[in-house]
Amino acid sequence: MSRFDFDLFTIGAGSGGVRASRVCAGYGARVAVAEERYFGGTCVNVGCIPKKLFSYAAHFHDDFHDAAGFGWTGPAPTFDWPTLLANKNTEIARLNGIYEGVLARAGVTILRHRATVVDPHTVECGGKHYTAKHILVATGSWPTVPDIPGQQLAITSNEAFFLPQLPPSIFVVGGGYIAVEFASIFNGLGVETTLLYRGKRLLRGFDADLGLRLADEMAKKGIKIRLESDIASLSKQPDGSLLATFQDGKLQSTGAVMFATGRKPNTPNLGLEAAGVELAADGAVKVNEYYTTSVPSIHALGDVTNRINLTPVATAEGMALAKTLFRDAPTKLDYLHIPTAVFSIPNLATVGMPEALAVECGHEVEIYKTTFRALKHTLSGSEEKTFMKLVVDKSSGRVLGVHMMGAEAGEIIQGMAIALKCGATKEQFDSTIGIHPTAAEEFVTMREKFSG
Ligand code: NDP
Repeated sequence: MSRFDFDLFTIGAGSGGVRASRVCAGYGARVAVAEERYFGGTCVNVGCIPKKLFSYAAHFHDDFHDAAGFGWTGPAPTFDWPTLLANKNTEIARLNGIYEGVLARAGVTILRHRATVVDPHTVECGGKHYTAKHILVATGSWPTVPDIPGQQLAITSNEAFFLPQLPPSIFVVGGGYIAVEFASIFNGLGVETTLLYRGKRLLRGFDADLGLRLADEMAKKGIKIRLESDIASLSKQPDGSLLATFQDGKLQSTGAVMFATGRKPNTPNLGLEAAGVELAADGAVKVNEYYTTSVPSIHALGDVTNRINLTPVATAEGMALAKTLFRDAPTKLDYLHIPTAVFSIPNLATVGMPEALAVECGHEVEIYKTTFRALKHTLSGSEEKTFMKLVVDKSSGRVLGVHMMGAEAGEIIQGMAIALKCGATKEQFDSTIGIHPTAAEEFVTMREKFSG
């Protein structure tokens, strides 16, 4: 009989925590999960899933317009935000139930309370102490907002998912994933949208072509893009609107302000430092390649480690940890070639190295690019452009990076990620037969090297 109450005590029932707990229980471990908020974490409740549902809603704006060129006309459709909100909430409640059910069916003990770490083998939860051989911290992250006067008047993505009504206009602040996705959503749903970014180019860290071209496409769809612009303070006006004072002293009013200015690991007041767990300067839990912290019995994965903050990465880390702890098979994750998509309108997706990073890493590169109007838009009248780019290592011919902006980019790049993981060369791309007529076939028909 074990001297511990549980073999694993997981704090946080998000993507990573649920996967690790379920798989560990499947391996025969006695597992408990504590969750104070919602099952499924950020992704299910205030992230990937509701965001993509909102994004589908926003796409209909273009779809209705595009339909006319194909002969479909009718009275202009109207949009009802409460309907979308209610349907989204119903679907999320269904998913919450599925996540909880998955844990329960796996035999995991569910504790609906906040849990804190007391010592390397003890957790406090709902006024009780539980001992565990292993503790897993999978508490995720939380939006951060700049420390400016009036910051409390703004919303973050957390609130954007539950707005009682849509504002007539909005400033979305930031130039990362959430900012461009929500700017596209609000704009598609009829809100007069301005995207404010402090830098020169959206989507820092992505291939430079993507950020530049996305800004052009978003502007074509009616989003006002203000680069090198930042809000210094906010105040409320008598009519309920917000007055933004910019860093350059200019003033402008708007219906709402949303900060999409990054997220920070959920580590405050968890008892981690007192238990000897080392944190990074940004509050992230430091882990080794097997997700173990500076305390051998305490582990962490997903956003709380602030490395690659994507749901499929957290779930893969959860699987790896389960094998390491309860299968006697120490398992590391391969962090190379992780594909990612940004659900802006148009979508954007990428795998492998941006051109600048490849050069920085010492590769002599050959670049292939194409920009075109998708077949659908020859009749729709839309001016939207699709963009694709390959970054190729000159000496080996290996494709180092695949980048795309255009409809269903995520669906297309997922397959490209397999090719890159297998070490595909440009020659192999070229010898692959395309599927005609698709946008994706362009990836296997790019013959002209791009020169400056
Ligand atoms: P990001 O880190 O992607 O972007 C934050 C943005 O805010 C950057 O443009 C940053 O500018 C800017 N910023 C930061 N601080 C300030 C400030 N004080 N004033 C003004 N601007 C500021 O964070 P997000 O919040 O967009 O998303 C968090 C993470 O969640 C992502 O990195 C991603 O890992 C994940 N995510 C994934 C999605 C997907 O898979 N589709 C969707 C949404 C989120 P600068 O570039 O100059 O630093």
